[in-house]
Amino acid sequence: MASNHNKLTSSRVAIIGAGVSGLSAAKHLAHHNPIVFEASDSVGGVWKSCTYETTKLQSARVDYEFSDFPWPNRDDTTFPSYIEILDYLESYAEHFDLLKFMKFGSKVIEVKYTGEGDALQMVDLGGYGSFLPGKPVWEVAVQNGDARDIQWHAFEFVVVCTGKFGDVPRIPTFPVKKGPEIFKGKVMHSMDYCKFEKEEASHVLRGKKVAVIGFKKSAIDLALESAIANQAEGGQACTMVVRTTHWVFPHYWVWGLPFFLFYSTRASQFLHDRPDQSFLRTLFCFIFSLLRAVVSKFIESYVTWKLPLEKYGLKPDHSFEEDYASCQMAIIPENFFEEADKGMIRFKKTSKWCFYDEGIEFEDGTTLESDVVILATGYDGKKKLKAIVPEPFRTWLEFPCGVMPLYRGTIHPLIPNMGFVGYVQSNSNLHTSELRSMWLSRLVDGKFELPSKEQMLDQFSKEMEVMRRSSRFYKRHCISTFSIQHADDLSFSPYGSQDYRLAQEETNI
Ligand SMILES: Cc1cc2nc3c(=O)[nH]c(=O)nc-3n(C[C@H](O)[C@H](O)[C@H](O)COP(=O)(O)OP(=O)(O)OC[C@H]3O[C@@H](n4cnc5c(N)ncnc54)[C@H](O)[C@@H]3O)c2cc1C
Repeated sequence: MASNHNKLTSSRVAIIGAGVSGLSAAKHLAHHNPIVFEASDSVGGVWKSCTYETTKLQSARVDYEFSDFPWPNRDDTTFPSYIEILDYLESYAEHFDLLKFMKFGSKVIEVKYTGEGDALQMVDLGGYGSFLPGKPVWEVAVQNGDARDIQWHAFEFVVVCTGKFGDVPRIPTFPVKKGPEIFKGKVMHSMDYCKFEKEEASHVLRGKKVAVIGFKKSAIDLALESAIANQAEGGQACTMVVRTTHWVFPHYWVWGLPFFLFYSTRASQFLHDRPDQSFLRTLFCFIFSLLRAVVSKFIESYVTWKLPLEKYGLKPDHSFEEDYASCQMAIIPENFFEEADKGMIRFKKTSKWCFYDEGIEFEDGTTLESDVVILATGYDGKKKLKAIVPEPFRTWLEFPCGVMPLYRGTIHPLIPNMGFVGYVQSNSNLHTSELRSMWLSRLVDGKFELPSKEQMLDQFSKEMEVMRRSSRFYKRHCISTFSIQHADDLSFSPYGSQDYRLAQEETNI
């Protein structure tokens, strides 16, 4: 590795990644003139790299909005396309003059701890230490285009915003001679499909028997793309291979009521367990679990009335509440079930499958002939992180409970001078990333202090406990049922009259 060992120290703060999280971190740490290293050639993250022609936002437009930068057409109730989202994010970067911090085409390939003391001692509990100690704590190796062009930079504080999705595909494993190597057709991950231009993408699918593995948002959109590409004569059906069904939704209305009423108001979230609650609250939540079950059934009744889930064997066995609590629900595109009714999208439920030379073989012994198999099996965000974070911190990334123990979703108690933004799933990841960036900025500026490492780990364990209790799919940083509590924690107090001051002034004009 040819590298430039003269460490550059033009800034005290580094941000890795320029997606939604990197942008909001840059905006709120702008007074430190951060350097933002972005591997690709633009801002936007997944909205640039993980989208197809049909990809739209699933959150409501007004929820996916920076607090100080409204959408130009914020009253439009349609879901914005990925192109609109990219425009919005680019405008945000321009408006707040963030592009001056960006180093595009700069991939961080290694991070080295150079701070005081033995890294291994970080596991000792106690205080966290200073965020801007006046001398570098991390060295960051950045690759610029040419693999041999590596430059080292030194920083006091590093914010990791590399995203949970994108970049590193999660690929299923197969027994010997049952994997893609024996299949005569084409196998790709949804991430590879995202790289095609529109014409190329439909060429890949047109006239082909396509199998899409998965039933989450990317898989659903892909199946629809395949159906659209196969409308002409000679078109072939696409089959979705589904292991676990999750609740899908046509829009955010339930029997005429807005969806947010059920899970996104203080009153509705009061019925759900939250971290660090008292015994009385636990009892209250237990008693009101019946009401929660009724709400869940009410929503399920609407979805099963509106969408032909039973007809296609897609009705989940678990409650809607469980999917919501683990951020598993997806918005189904408008004409998805029309294509299913036309026979252009089919479904095969199976828990196990493998390849054979002509396609896919299922556990019940049946087979599916295929020309193209697309693995919409998600991404390995942890692997992406592990590639950067050095030992011994890498080992502690998921210590002690298999999920990254981030205090306030942002600080790993055992990793000094490093913040993480974007390791979350909620009803609007943008909103959460923005709030966490604000919180982080105030923390770095010394406006408040962290509790001890022990207390932070303890707080996270309590959050995990809530997630574990609320859903069997708990292995994610999903805060949907306590998002308001989380926002309060980051703001240090519940909303008060001051929070409505600006809105009031504007209305009075
Ligand atoms: C198809 C799809 C639909 C989605 N829909 C919604 C939705 O409706 N609502 C919602 O709230 N969320 C949605 N999400 C989640 C979405 O990921 C977040 O909303 C948000 O965009 C994540 O932003 P981020 O900045 O944290 O991560 P990313 O967007 O992944 O950005 C990370 C950036 O870091 C860069 N990077 C990574 N590694 C390195 C490195 N080593 N060096 C330098 N740069 C690096 C990447 O190039 C990328 O630009 C969706 C995600 C996908 C994939």
